[in-house]
Amino acid sequence: MRNYTEVTERLKNLDVPIERLGTAHNYPIYQIHLASSAHTPQRVLITGGMHGDEPAGVEAVLQFLERDNTSRLNKFSFLIIPCINPYGYVHNTRETRDGIDINRAFETEDVAEAAIVKKALGKTQFSLTIDFHEDYDATGFYLYEGKQNEKYIGPKLAVAAKAIGSIDPDDPGEDAPDLAEGVYKVANSWGTQGLAPYLLHFHSEHVIISETPTVWELEQRAALHLTILDTALKIISESDA
Ligand SMILES: [Zn+2]
Repeated sequence: MRNYTEVTERLKNLDVPIERLGTAHNYPIYQIHLASSAHTPQRVLITGGMHGDEPAGVEAVLQFLERDNTSRLNKFSFLIIPCINPYGYVHNTRETRDGIDINRAFETEDVAEAAIVKKALGKTQFSLTIDFHEDYDATGFYLYEGKQNEKYIGPKLAVAAKAIGSIDPDDPGEDAPDLAEGVYKVANSWGTQGLAPYLLHFHSEHVIISETPTVWELEQRAALHLTILDTALKIISESDA
């Protein structure tokens, strides 16, 4: 059993208001909005804990929130959902209590966690979404990228992330074409039942799924996720300058 109260306590200790989006299987799901100081900010969505047995995503989101993001708010606003699947987080299960993989449920209306995320999205359009995941079979990291204009930054992200650890040598085998070593394209064949392809279709011109190997220590996995995120924000802010 993992302790969701510790997550909640860390959120409540932040300097920013946290908002309860809804409740699934008796656990509250939270969002945090970090407002930008810019007139027309680029909106970024950050999500963790979709799969409850992948805690490094939740840890990465918490560490992101716990640091000083003032300079990033000159350019970006952030909508952050730290833990989409708190039941799974507590019980260390990929799925919900009902055995549902939320990341295959975005085309349906009857999965509470997916419905709560969709409600949070509203009609918002994001410049970038990053969704943190983990892989039990991998020995290194990799990532998926989807981008409407197909100007991919994944190869640069992978180079930066190599400072944290090595790239997984195996193809994840999800019917995703390679963009570079450790970088795979979000494939059209996935449909829109997963969060990232759903967002790419309806809410976000650019999506990244960061995958860390569970075999690494938690701190290294969280550091990998944050390196991918920071590098993506840096590239986007520079290309827009
Ligand atoms: Zn996952």
